[in-house]
Order: sequence, then C-alpha cells, then structure tokens
Amino acid sequence: MKENLLKFIGNDSGFGDKNNSAYFEQNNELFIIDCGYTVFNEIKNRFDFSVYNNINVIITHLHNDHAGSLSQFILYMWFVYKKQVNVICNCKYIREYLDITGTPSCAYELKNKLENLTFIKTKHTDYLDAYGFVMNINNKRILYTGDTCELESFSPYLNNINELYIDLSKFGGAHLKVDDVLGTLKDLKNKDVKIIPMHIDDKEYVLTLISKL
Ligand SMILES: [Zn+2]
Ligand SMILES: [Zn+2]
Repeated sequence: MKENLLKFIGNDSGFGDKNNSAYFEQNNELFIIDCGYTVFNEIKNRFDFSVYNNINVIITHLHNDHAGSLSQFILYMWFVYKKQVNVICNCKYIREYLDITGTPSCAYELKNKLENLTFIKTKHTDYLDAYGFVMNINNKRILYTGDTCELESFSPYLNNINELYIDLSKFGGAHLKVDDVLGTLKDLKNKDVKIIPMHIDDKEYVLTLISKL
C-alpha cells in the first residue's frame, strides 16, 4: 500500500500520551502540523533540523494538545539552531499566545497563509476558533480537519481531494463522532479518497469501523 503523504508524530486524542501531530518534507522544507505539549520531546531528537531551508509549523488552534510546546520549539530552534520558525496560523490570539509564553518575535515569523494551503474555519468549541486546511503536496491534495465537531465546513472541498485526515472519536462532543459520518466516509472511499483517522480516543473502536468501510 502506498504511504500516506503525512507521517504522524502522534494521533491520540487530547488526554492521550502522544498529541495529534503530523509532518511532511517538501523542497528541503519541513512542515510540522500542530505542536502540542508532548510534541517537543517527540521531535527534538527525531530530525536533523540543520538540513532544512525552512522550518514551518502549521497550527490549527490553540488548545494545549495542539500548541502547548510551540513556544518551546521556537525557542529551541532559535537558540540551538539559530533558525527562525515560520508559524502558519489563522487563530485570533496566536500573537498574544506567543507573547505571553515568552517567545521573542525575532525567533519566528507569523503567517496566516501559505501558497498551496487554504485554511477552513470549522466548529470545535464555542470559546476557541479552530481551523482545518486543504493543501497540495507532491501533486496530491489533502484535507486536514484539525479538531472539529462537524464536516459541513469542509463539504465544498471533499470532492477534490486524495487524502482526508479526519478527527474521529467514539464519544463525539467537541469532536466528530465516527458513527455519524460513516456514510459520508464510505462515499468518499468509493471515490478513491484515502481516509486517515486521527485524534482518536478509542483506537480499537474507531479503527475497526474505518477498516470495514
Ligand atoms: Zn485536540
Ligand atoms: Zn481542540
């Protein structure tokens, strides 16, 4: 089976051992998607950061399991590798978040867009803005939902993708309940879209259902 375009650093839900985070490399650049509180320790020794022309971190929202070690990573890159991190994020309070966690603005560049990437605002919790995105990688198109409790925001994009990275949970709430979207996922699979569950609270339950699509 062909490998997915994104590799996971972790795919647990918010209270799991390894925060949901993924990465890919393109044109000598590293892209890390989300940087939750367990991620810094996972990536610190995993990459030789000196080989990349650019280090990019895409942040979907500011929950701790998605941004909790972002400041630490930026500081590490700045002081150890003398590199400025590109933070790609559309969240309203990202600048304030980095300020109050003691991240000097010289250590990073904040961008709210990227060529080939379109942020999609979604619903997750009432008190925090959250985004997924579509992005082209190696002539393929992926959709990454980030944390979401609904698929409607993404529906205009679903018919034109190769891989769907989707927040799926057994229990629902602030996350998509897998039972509620099985029909949609089945249709997408029939259209050759690869379904990749993430942020999973009960792996046995969710992955079994997805394997039967
Ligand atoms: Zn989360
Ligand atoms: Zn969240």
